[in-house]
Amino acid sequence: MNELVIKEVKVILTAPGGIDLVVVKVETNDPDLYGLGCATFTQRVYAVKTAIEKYLKPFLIGKDPSRIEDIWHSANVSGYWRNGPIMNNALSGIDMALWDIKGKVANLPVYELLGGKCREGIPLYRHADGADEVEVEENVLALVDEGYQYVRCQMGMYGGSGTTDTRLINKVYERSNKVVSKRSPKGALPGIYFDPEAYAKSVVGLFEHLRLKVGPNVEFIHDIHERVSPIEAVRLAKNLEPYHLFYLEDPVAPENLDWLKMFREQTTTPIAVGELFSNINEWKTIITNKQIDFIRCHVSTVGGITPAKKIAILGELHGVRTAWHGPGDISPIGAAANLHLDISSPNFGIQEWTLMNEALHEVFPGSPTVEEGFAYLSNRPGLGVDLDEEKAKKYPAQGGIPEWTLARTPDGTVARP
Ligand code: MG
Repeated sequence: MNELVIKEVKVILTAPGGIDLVVVKVETNDPDLYGLGCATFTQRVYAVKTAIEKYLKPFLIGKDPSRIEDIWHSANVSGYWRNGPIMNNALSGIDMALWDIKGKVANLPVYELLGGKCREGIPLYRHADGADEVEVEENVLALVDEGYQYVRCQMGMYGGSGTTDTRLINKVYERSNKVVSKRSPKGALPGIYFDPEAYAKSVVGLFEHLRLKVGPNVEFIHDIHERVSPIEAVRLAKNLEPYHLFYLEDPVAPENLDWLKMFREQTTTPIAVGELFSNINEWKTIITNKQIDFIRCHVSTVGGITPAKKIAILGELHGVRTAWHGPGDISPIGAAANLHLDISSPNFGIQEWTLMNEALHEVFPGSPTVEEGFAYLSNRPGLGVDLDEEKAKKYPAQGGIPEWTLARTPDGTVARP
């Protein structure tokens, strides 16, 4: 057969789980050989689609799909300005598809190409949200019953009330208003309002309650979601020490990373950051200076498996573990990419997991499944997940801006979501 070359690059937008996903299909001159990758930047799906169709596709046609590193770097610099979330997600779709093709050519799952299994199954954590301590406790115990040993616990989601679930908003506001009685000024603009101070005061009580009711053996995770001032986050991390969190996530925004030094000086609560990073160079200083404990990277937003494995290895050299971001706005192909990295990394820490509905399994045959709190990977070649393009059309993307990103504090100021 002729030398293998890339013949076509397609972008498929679909939303089987109610969240817009971006999938890239790289086809080769072998009609039976193609790769699939996740390029999901759900808040900007059309920008990513255009970037791939208008810029990366013409750049890739005719190239050898086996040359993943060369393609990643040449595509990355081809726009001169680089490392932004739109182009990185576009590049991730290509990168994961090329790893998928490489696995299929080798007749091996991608984790074998990354060094092979370090463990048989991948421990997962799920989310337990609730409007008050008792509801969170009930949801934690339900997950423990399903076999999960790690649970992320949030009262009213992020920042106490940052949710589009009006039942939760009203219940949490009712509760937090008893604490601080904050009102908004007349004419306050519409948005998802939250109160950073009321939230910070509520978190310690939540974990005091959970340890008392759930005991010492379930690992708790909490996400501050960059929603309080840096010094308030330091105070919270110190006050949470008695409750022994597995980690505290995003205590500060990427804009305030220099505060991480103070966390190290003040507290032993383990820190996870980085789901908002898009430039892989953002990881260098905080890993080499041991200022974090867990890498919370959104793999497609740094450009796919190729850069992510380098971040994981840098972490391994410095005693920092992985905890790849695993929300609903990631396709089953992206979720599988996380798992291939997880199972082949000696410094794997934990994997966030969002349950996939029936429609996702229908559109993406071979999607990973879980059993009693663990994910298991098959030995299918490549990433192991396929796409039914006809069924994907049944779930068109919606576009638009998610309401939860329109966050404001009680006086009406725009806040990080
Ligand atoms: Mg997070």
